[in-house]
Amino acid sequence: MNEFLSVERWPGVWAVGDCALVPDLTTGDFCPPTAQHAVREGKVLAHNILAEIRGTRKKPFRFRTLGQLASIGRRTGVAEILGLKFSGFLAWFLWRGVYWSKLPRAEKKVRVAIDWLLDLLFTKDFTQFVPQRAPVISMPAAVMDFPTFAAPTGHGERAEGINAHHNENGHSNQYARNN
Ligand SMILES: Cc1cc2nc3c(=O)[nH]c(=O)nc-3n(C[C@H](O)[C@H](O)[C@H](O)COP(=O)(O)OP(=O)(O)OC[C@H]3O[C@@H](n4cnc5c(N)ncnc54)[C@H](O)[C@@H]3O)c2cc1C
Repeated sequence: MNEFLSVERWPGVWAVGDCALVPDLTTGDFCPPTAQHAVREGKVLAHNILAEIRGTRKKPFRFRTLGQLASIGRRTGVAEILGLKFSGFLAWFLWRGVYWSKLPRAEKKVRVAIDWLLDLLFTKDFTQFVPQRAPVISMPAAVMDFPTFAAPTGHGERAEGINAHHNENGHSNQYARNN
């Protein structure tokens, strides 16, 4: 494909993002498959499709990679921004900041900001997922290898062995074993 994001020899076919081999006009190589390229290619592509329809001038895609950020653990990150390499809390904070700034919608931004703030102030919030399984027809219940866990029986008590749980229609729909 060419720098206008159209596929050569296939008029009317355009490509952007990871699936496109876009020439990088700043290095002479090809653009890396990153989101920072994909979103900018999308804008140039929109402009170029309109230009094609209206018969006006198309824009070549030209963008120099701003840098790379990655989180490598709890409140630690690595960064390379405009050639400058650093690591630690600042890199992690920048990674989170960039991630946050890209979130769509103000509501989502507020929700995530509050969640991350709580995460900074308090320790991890553990949640237990109860791995309840559907009944296995082809195997006797007694030989099923269930993990050990305490599941509610639906009758306000812990029960021994395999328990059939009944829904409001009186049908048995799941089994759990408490040890
Ligand atoms: C683990 C990981 C970490 C990354 N971290 C970064 C980072 O920190 N910074 C950065 O800049 N980039 C990062 N990237 C790269 C970035 O995610 C991609 O470059 C970017 O998402 C490419 O955008 P895209 O629109 O081309 O493709 P995608 O975001 O992959 O979107 C393609 C969409 O098409 C859908 N799709 C696929 N096939 C079909 C079909 N047949 N019909 C309909 N829909 C279909 C897919 O479900 C998907 O939603 C990361 C990628 C990965 C995997």
